[in-house]
Order: sequence, then C-alpha cells, then structure tokens
Amino acid sequence: MGKIIDGKKVSQDVKEEIKTFIEKRKSKGLRVPKIVSILVGNDGGSVYYINSQEKVATSLGVNFEKILLNEDIKEDELISVIDKLNKDKDVDGIIMQMPLPRSLNENKIINTISPEKDIDCLTFVNQGKLYNGEKVFLPCTPNSVVTLLERYNIELEGKNVVVIGRSNIVGKPVAQLLLNKNSTVTICHSRTNNLKDICKQADIIVVAIGKAKFINKEFVNENSIIIDVGTSSLNGKITGDVDFDDVINKVNMITPVPGGVGALTTTLLIKNSCEALEYNENKNFNS
Ligand code: NAP
Repeated sequence: MGKIIDGKKVSQDVKEEIKTFIEKRKSKGLRVPKIVSILVGNDGGSVYYINSQEKVATSLGVNFEKILLNEDIKEDELISVIDKLNKDKDVDGIIMQMPLPRSLNENKIINTISPEKDIDCLTFVNQGKLYNGEKVFLPCTPNSVVTLLERYNIELEGKNVVVIGRSNIVGKPVAQLLLNKNSTVTICHSRTNNLKDICKQADIIVVAIGKAKFINKEFVNENSIIIDVGTSSLNGKITGDVDFDDVINKVNMITPVPGGVGALTTTLLIKNSCEALEYNENKNFNS
C-alpha cells in the first residue's frame, strides 16, 4: 500500500515554525507581520478562502485585515486602495482574491501591488523573477507541492517529473519550481498524446487538471509518487484528480484530497508574510 503524504502534518510543522518566528520577534519588541486581503464582490470560493486566511493568520499571531469591496467598484478606486497599502509601512503582504469581477482589468489590478508585498507571486515582476531562478515569495499552491515532496525527503534532482496541467497559477509555476530544483520536467496538457505512457515512466506525477478521479492505475507504476492538486466537487465531496482507491495499492507515495496540497497552501501564504516582513526590513532574503 502506498504511503500517504500528509499535508495536515506538514502544515502543522510549518505553523510551529511561524509561531516560533512570531514569538522571537515579540520577545525582542519587534513588529509582527501584517497581511491585508482584499475581496471584491462575494464569490463563494473567495469568501471561504479569505475567512480561512484570517483564521490561520490570527491563530498564529499574524495581524490580518480584510477589505471587502462592492463588485461595482471602479478600477481607479480599487487601484487607489492598493496604492495606499503599498505605501503603508505596517503592511507586509497584500492579497487580492481572485477572480475579480469582469468589469475590472485583472492584470492591471494585480500589477498595481508592490512586488515587495506580493506574497502570492501574482505580479509579472515576481513571476519574471521566479522564471529567472531568482529568490522571490513563492506562489503558494506550487510551493505546497514542492514543500510536501521536500519534507518527505523525496529526491528531486535528476528525477523525471510529469506535471499535468499548464495553467499560469498551478501547472507552469509548479514546473518551474521543480526545474529550479534540477528535476527533469515534462509538462502535459489536454492535447498531449500518450499521456498514460508518459506518466507510467515518471518518478513523480503532479496532476492539476480539475477532472475528478482522472488518473487511475493505468497511469502509474509501483514506484510512482503522486501529488494531487485537483479539487473538484463530486457527489457533494471534494475530490482530487486521482482515483485514490484505484491507485493506492499500486503506488509508492500519494497525497490525499482533502488533506494534501490544499491543507498547506494557506499556511505557506502566511509564512510568506513573515519573509516579506524580513525582506522589507533588510531589503534582502535571509535564506
Ligand atoms: P485550469 O486553469 O482549468 O487548467 C487545467 C489544466 O489542465 C489545463 O492546462 C488543461 O489543458 C489541463 N487539462 C484539462 N483536461 C486535461 C486532460 N484530460 N488531460 C491533460 N490535461 C488536461 O485549472 P487550474 O487553475 O490549474 O487548477 C487545476 C486544479 O487544481 C483544479 O481542480 C483546481 O481547483 C485545483 N487547485 C487546487 C489548489 C489547492 O490549493 N489545492 C489551488 C489551485 C487550484 P489545456 O491547457 O490544454 O486546456
């Protein structure tokens, strides 16, 4: 039976590290990080996500402020809200909940955020740095994939990794992070031929397509390590892109859904606010 890669356990470990960081800062009389998360409109997923960010941040001693705006807000009004936060020395991280209402130019809004406060790596400047191999606040979902692999001591250098999905928020940055770790990365998508054969030859499969139970035992081998990013709703239950029950007896290691990648993403976002605070104090990354 495949070993479970436990996202909740890794998340707990990272939370302890954040708590230690906060306690150290407090004991020295230093400021703790502050995150401001902006929600325009009332998209159900975004409301859930912003509330969960608030819960995790406050439980760890990180200051958190929600800005809730009407969906008919004008673009220049939203830009001036962001401008003010960019200039506020007490704000370390700015998060814009996506998707934005269609009336707003998403790229323009996102790129108004100062790259030094862009803790989810959404601005073109930070994405450019990421693709250039420079140190940057890592995008949370892709970082969750790599963190899970690393915390389970899974060797990445030289390994054959197949990433299924090429979106700008998951597939492409996951592939880049793995490339930065010296993996040999193959990116697959809906037009890929012979997907099953490509997957069968991989050491690690990262799947982010949003198709419940798409990957079954025909795609894997006995040594496969599988990271399932997918979250779809199937019969009222959150379900991954992998048919867990079908593959669990055949693979080496696998993340569950829920309790895998998604269990760690918000924690990593909060961790990035700690890095942003230190970065903005020193104008340098500590590690
Ligand atoms: P997306 O923008 O819809 O992209 C899906 C990608 O999957 C596309 O590149 C698409 O290929 C590819 N694809 C679709 N069907 C395929 C198939 N049959 N075979 C191979 N490739 C296929 O989705 P996304 O935003 O990347 O999200 C992917 C999944 O991750 C979703 O379930 C989402 O909910 C989940 N997610 C989870 C977290 C988390 O924290 N756990 C965070 C973000 C997203 P083409 O490019 O050719 O169309």
